[in-house]
Amino acid sequence: MSESAQGADGHGINDLGRDIRETNAPTLLDSFGRSFPYLRLSITNVCNFSCNYCLPNGYQGCKGTSFLRIDEIERLMSAFVDLGTNKIRLTGGEPTVRKDFTKIATLVSNHPAINKTAFTTNGYRLFKHAKQWRDAGLSNINISLDSLNSERFLQITGHDRLSEVLKGIDKAIEVGFERVKINTVLLKGVNDSELKDYLAWAKNSPISIRFIELMQTGDNLEYYKKYHLSASLISDELENNGWKVKQRSYDAGPAKEYIHPDYQGSIGFISPYSKDFCKGCNRLRVTSTGDLRLCLFGNQGISLRHLLQSDEQKPLLTKLISDQLAFKCSAHFLALGDTGITPNLASIGG
Ligand code: SAM
Repeated sequence: MSESAQGADGHGINDLGRDIRETNAPTLLDSFGRSFPYLRLSITNVCNFSCNYCLPNGYQGCKGTSFLRIDEIERLMSAFVDLGTNKIRLTGGEPTVRKDFTKIATLVSNHPAINKTAFTTNGYRLFKHAKQWRDAGLSNINISLDSLNSERFLQITGHDRLSEVLKGIDKAIEVGFERVKINTVLLKGVNDSELKDYLAWAKNSPISIRFIELMQTGDNLEYYKKYHLSASLISDELENNGWKVKQRSYDAGPAKEYIHPDYQGSIGFISPYSKDFCKGCNRLRVTSTGDLRLCLFGNQGISLRHLLQSDEQKPLLTKLISDQLAFKCSAHFLALGDTGITPNLASIGG
């Protein structure tokens, strides 16, 4: 939420004029004292891009798979809200390939207890639809952009669409998304020479660029070994050039963010291999087929879908979700090469 105005009875009002009330709902807590007000909801596994590190052969489909319907999403959201959720991110796959994406966005954004609604996209439909999605109520947007060089963008994603995506990002800023974040996966020897181009972009643009360390998943071990790069190499360079770590807000994500007085934008780093990365975990995930995942790299997922079929099932659903929190581990085991049951991030919602 950007700086909010005060409503008549003291609670906040966000840019869209919606109330931002503190909810009195019980908050999901795990055995390590962490609470989970943030749900990442995948609405499809389908992706039209074929990023080398995620779906190098494109989305292959899975016979018989059906993704959550709108009524199921509504019941799911209602249960999570009862458990204290106040922020939802729609992701995938590519969430905007769904024909009913705007409907889902409207549904999620208009729930009075949800004060931040975000989505993550590759940006391929952004130029045309940014206004519609902002008007639907989505407040925050993350756009994946792994290179500012069109040939390299093509080589990484399989699509010659850099200029289209850049136009979409400008449109997202123009139509007033509260925060426009750019996700760039750091790839050794591929895009690590582009720091100066990203910095030049951030100089006069109100964007938040976040460099993400390449993560190993079930499918990408060889690629990971070849291209993983520690973000500290780049953050050290920033620190030596006057960039300072920004103080974290209460609901900040896992990125360590840097700001500089001469730059309108900011630069962040998401370093899942760093010590204590999971200490501040505040999110749960539900896959596009309705499985609850306690961690991006967990070893189990429990299906919620059978309890999304009627409103009367809500008490059972909320109990199942909160009981699962007992099984959330203190951290993932990525550093040991344990990627859990995640073959690629498109299958769970990155
Ligand atoms: N299709 C959307 C997009 O492109 O942003 C949403 C889904 S995508 C799986 C979400 C994010 O996960 C993207 O920023 C992508 O670059 C990132 N991602 C996918 N696989 C990754 C990996 N192995 N390591 C780090 N980031 C990854």
